[in-house]
Amino acid sequence: MVLDPKGNTGAQQGRRAFVVRGLGVLAGLVVAGTSSAAANAAQDDPARATRLRAVDDEWRFCERCYGMIHVYFGLGVGRCPGASNGHSVAGYQFRLPYDVPETATAQANWRYCERCLGLFYFGYPGGGWCPAGGSHLAKGYNYVLPHDVVETPTSQAYWRFCTKCYALFYWGYPTKGSCPAGGGHEAAGYNFVIPHYS
Ligand SMILES: [Zn+2]
Ligand SMILES: [Zn+2]
Ligand SMILES: [Zn+2]
Repeated sequence: MVLDPKGNTGAQQGRRAFVVRGLGVLAGLVVAGTSSAAANAAQDDPARATRLRAVDDEWRFCERCYGMIHVYFGLGVGRCPGASNGHSVAGYQFRLPYDVPETATAQANWRYCERCLGLFYFGYPGGGWCPAGGSHLAKGYNYVLPHDVVETPTSQAYWRFCTKCYALFYWGYPTKGSCPAGGGHEAAGYNFVIPHYS
């Protein structure tokens, strides 16, 4: 884990978000067009427009609870089980695929919790243990996380499912963060390998 604050400024995040969303809008316009060469190109490669908007790059590691946290709605907020004043993000800017097919090496049903801002697995009944109290509350996209594939310079391994709170957390340190269910998180299942900007 490189705790490099690069890419952590509001201006940079805003610009990146604008670029990503701008591409999505352009792709939509191209697909909607009827006569341009660009429209023909898009029809030749219909998956391209989907790929452009099928990644959410607003995710970061929280150095207090070790969870994966969505930062679009503001830093220092949310309910962090490791601190009373919210999550504190560091390191890579992750890019989570969503609304793509589940495969033998990619698991669906990972969701954003609008109460704690964390990523959690929604595939079991109950919804886990939210640091804001009760269960996590799913909202937004259906994220599909790669697992058990080779780590590369633009992806990070050792992200795991916590059996106690259902959150995704980083398992690569000797300590295991702060679980809202008490103590550190407890890993089980797949070894997730999460794409990020270099
Ligand atoms: Zn946190
Ligand atoms: Zn939650
Ligand atoms: Zn946990």
